[in-house]
Amino acid sequence: MIALSFHGAAQTVTGSKYLVRVAGDSVLIDCGLFQGLKELRLRNWDSPPFDAHKIPWIVLTHCHIDHIGYLPRLFRRGFRGEILCSEPTARMIEILLLDAAHLQEEDAYYLNKEGKSRHKPALPLFTQDDARAVSRLVKPVPFAQDIPLTPRLSFRLRPVGHILGACSVLLTIRDGSQKKTIYFGGDIGRYNAPLVRDPESPLATDYLVLESTYGDRVHEATDPYESIAALVHKIVENRGVLLIPAFAVGRTQQLVLILRELEEQGRIPRLPVHVDSPMAVNVTDIYCQFEDWHRIEVARLGDADCALHAKNVTYHRSREESMAINKLEGPRVIISSGGMLTGGRVLHHLMQRMDDARNIIALVGFQAAGTRGRDLLDGKKLLRFHGEMHTVRAEVVDVGGLSGHADYTELMRWLGALEKAPATTFITHGEPGPAAAMAARVQEERGFKAIIPYLGDEFEL
Ligand SMILES: [Zn+2]
Ligand SMILES: [Zn+2]
Repeated sequence: MIALSFHGAAQTVTGSKYLVRVAGDSVLIDCGLFQGLKELRLRNWDSPPFDAHKIPWIVLTHCHIDHIGYLPRLFRRGFRGEILCSEPTARMIEILLLDAAHLQEEDAYYLNKEGKSRHKPALPLFTQDDARAVSRLVKPVPFAQDIPLTPRLSFRLRPVGHILGACSVLLTIRDGSQKKTIYFGGDIGRYNAPLVRDPESPLATDYLVLESTYGDRVHEATDPYESIAALVHKIVENRGVLLIPAFAVGRTQQLVLILRELEEQGRIPRLPVHVDSPMAVNVTDIYCQFEDWHRIEVARLGDADCALHAKNVTYHRSREESMAINKLEGPRVIISSGGMLTGGRVLHHLMQRMDDARNIIALVGFQAAGTRGRDLLDGKKLLRFHGEMHTVRAEVVDVGGLSGHADYTELMRWLGALEKAPATTFITHGEPGPAAAMAARVQEERGFKAIIPYLGDEFEL
C-alpha cells in the first residue's frame, strides 16, 4: 500500500509537508513552516502527526521558509535523517534557517520583555543552534538523474524556475510488482522572468501535486524594466531616493540585475545602489556561483566577475554601514529587507526617507494584510512605528510583474506538457478560493480529476 498524506499547504499557502509511506519506508517532501495569520502560526507548535525520529529522508523542493522552516523544529523532535535537495538549495538552507531562528529568538525576547506571553517564559520555536544542527544533515544531489533511497523509493529533481535551486520532485515508488510515480511540482516559477530560467515542463506521472498560489489570478502584463526605469528617472530629476523593500532571496537579486541591465542598455544613468541586508549579501554570492541556473550568464554583464557585483552596487553587512546610508543624499537606490516592512533593516530606511516628497517607496512583492507594506499599498498616509504615528510624504508605487509564482495561465501552460491525465491531481499551496479555481480549471480544461486535500488527509494510491 502506498499512502500520501498532507501535513501543510492544504487549503493554505504555507507549511508544505507531504509524507509518502510504502511498506516500512517513508519520505517527507518539504518541511515548511506555517506563516501569516496567528491561527496558522500556532500550528507550528503542534506535535507533527508522524514520528520525527522515524523519518529517514526529507527531499526539499526549494529553500523558501514555507518549505524548509520547520526543519529545526523537527530536529528538536528527534529527526536525524538525511535532507536531500539541489546544490544551490543546500548552500542557502543554513543562511535562511539562521535568519528564521534569529526572528524566533527576537520575538520570544520581546514577548518576555513586554510580559505579553501567556507562557512564562516565552520560548522560541527553535534556536540558531537547532538551525545549525539540522543544516549539517543536508546533502546536495544532482538534478535530472534518479537518486535511489531504498529498493522501493527513488526520486529525481527537475528545475522549475521560481528561485535559484528550486525543483519539482518526481518520486518513484515500487511496491511489489507495481510501480507508481508522484510528481510534486513545488513552487512553479514564471516564464520570461528576470534572472531565473523558465520552469521545465512536468514529466509523465501517475499522481500530481500542484501548487495554486495564484490559481484564480492573472499577473498584470506590466514590464518591470519599464516601471523601474521610469522611477529611476524620477529620482534623478528630483534628487530623491528610491527605496525598495525586498526579500533577500531571489527578489533582491532580480532587482539588482534589472538595474544593471537597464544601465548596460543606456536606459538609465549609473546610480549608486545600496543592497542593505546581511542575508542578501550571502545569498548574492551563492547566486553568482551558479550561473547555469540563470537565464543569462551573469558574468557577461558589466565590469565585475558577476553582474550582481558591479562597481556602483554596494553590499552592506554591518549595522554601522547600514546606518551610514541615512546620511547620504539622492539620487540613489536602496534595496533592503524585509519585503513587507514588518521588520528588518528596511524599517530605519523607511523612517529616514518616508517624510520627503522627493523620495519613492517601490513595493515589488506580495503585501499581506496587517503589514506596513499593505498599509502603504492601500494609500495610508500615517504609519505606526513603536506606538508612534509617522506621516508618509514620499510617493508610494506598486511595481507589478515581479511575482515569483506562475499565475493560472502559466500553470496551465506548464501542465500542457502532460499528455496523459494523472489518476489524481492534488491541488495544494493555495488559499481555498484560488485552490478551488485551479481545481475547476484543470477539471474543465484538461479533464483531470482534481482533489483539494485538507490538513491531515491521507490517500491510498
Ligand atoms: Zn517558494
Ligand atoms: Zn511556497
